[in-house]
Amino acid sequence: MMNPRLACIKCKMEYPMDRIRYRCDCGALLELRRDLDGVSPGALVEKWERRWKAKRGVDASGVWRYRELVLELPEDQIVTKEEGNTRLYPGGKAAKFAGIENFLLKHEGENPTGSFKDRGMTCGISAAKMLGARSVACASTGNTSASMAAYAATAGMDSLIFIPEGKIAYGKLAQALAYGGRTLQIDGNFDTAMELVQQICDRLDIYLLNSINPFRIEGQKAICFEILQQLEWKIPDWFVIPGGNLGNNSALSKALMELHQIGVISKIPRIAVIQAEGANPLYRLWTEGGRFKAMENPDTIATAIKIGNPVSWEKSMRGIKWSKGVVEQVSEQEIMDAKAVVDAAGIGAEPASCCSVAGAKKLVAKGVISKDDFVVGILTGSILKDPDAVIGYHTGKLPGIKSNFANAPLKIKADVESVRKILSLRDAKPHPEKGVRIL
Ligand SMILES: *Cc1c(COP(=O)(O)O)cnc(C)c1O
Ligand SMILES: [Zn+2]
Repeated sequence: MMNPRLACIKCKMEYPMDRIRYRCDCGALLELRRDLDGVSPGALVEKWERRWKAKRGVDASGVWRYRELVLELPEDQIVTKEEGNTRLYPGGKAAKFAGIENFLLKHEGENPTGSFKDRGMTCGISAAKMLGARSVACASTGNTSASMAAYAATAGMDSLIFIPEGKIAYGKLAQALAYGGRTLQIDGNFDTAMELVQQICDRLDIYLLNSINPFRIEGQKAICFEILQQLEWKIPDWFVIPGGNLGNNSALSKALMELHQIGVISKIPRIAVIQAEGANPLYRLWTEGGRFKAMENPDTIATAIKIGNPVSWEKSMRGIKWSKGVVEQVSEQEIMDAKAVVDAAGIGAEPASCCSVAGAKKLVAKGVISKDDFVVGILTGSILKDPDAVIGYHTGKLPGIKSNFANAPLKIKADVESVRKILSLRDAKPHPEKGVRIL
């Protein structure tokens, strides 16, 4: 049973899994395919439930717990940090903001390096080990490189990171450097970096760990398995998820398709993919139809999704249509206001993550999501990834963005009377130049 192999998403050509290959001869992406007929849903779920109790090691990983549908490897080939096992929070203020009563937020920022990328990376690096690779590389807007550098360090491999010029969130760059990734900043944007790294890996015998890598998608499927397990296999009406390179929502739909085929689930939740207005090639394809067109100069404060030519757009479209889902876009203002609310709810996440909440709110307003629907939003990265965005917002210093929910620091004299005065002052706005509130 299962018999996993690489299969082309277009022409269906198949290739063995134990040879390095990222694309089909026809040029399309590959994915892992398995024979799922005859797999017992009850036995599978029972195995996963049993592993939930593991205190350490491979079974305690929120990815490898589901290895039947991720990747089955000998234990000594698995490179794990017991990733996953992230919390599923009641939305609180963020749920109220979005206008949904039953809105849960799955916080993937609670992974070992602070983003969901760890789920794909444990699988990608383990595959690299299986394939005998000594060096790995990726192009990244930040979180992939942070994750790859950490997992490569754990596995004793060299890592080579290509980052775009200009803005990369500080927390992410700091991690890549600290974990020992060799970091090369190129004069071009993410899409240029992506093209370059593919050429490098083809020619220089380095294993490519971008989301073009089919094993990373398999690892990311575990977000879905884990959410459903946390819900005792009760199925939400909607998943809302940000979209950049579009690997994560592709993984989500693939996970659901496989569970559905096996018979673990009978209902199919709808998937809403949310893009930033300034980096919205999927949204355009969705609303305008026609052929897929890459975007030349994507731009958004949500740097994790600042991508104009997403690698996985075909996989993504297939999954969204299958789930009767939708694609929505949100403005910079909507992203940052949603972020302020998610943060103030005591949950906190980086800007790209908060597209889930901003998008959910918009879809409720449009009547696509109903306020009675059971919705799970995915928060993809940690609040600490991008402190500049936080401080900029709360001090009123983000160009073009109104700090509607600002909580600016105050400068006061060191006496009780000053504090008393401030406590009576609720809605002070940040000073336009100084950033702090002035009494
Ligand atoms: C990578 C990333 C995304 C986008 O995921 P894709 O799979 O590229 O669509 C969103 N948010 C964060 C925090 C990320 O790191
Ligand atoms: Zn093909």
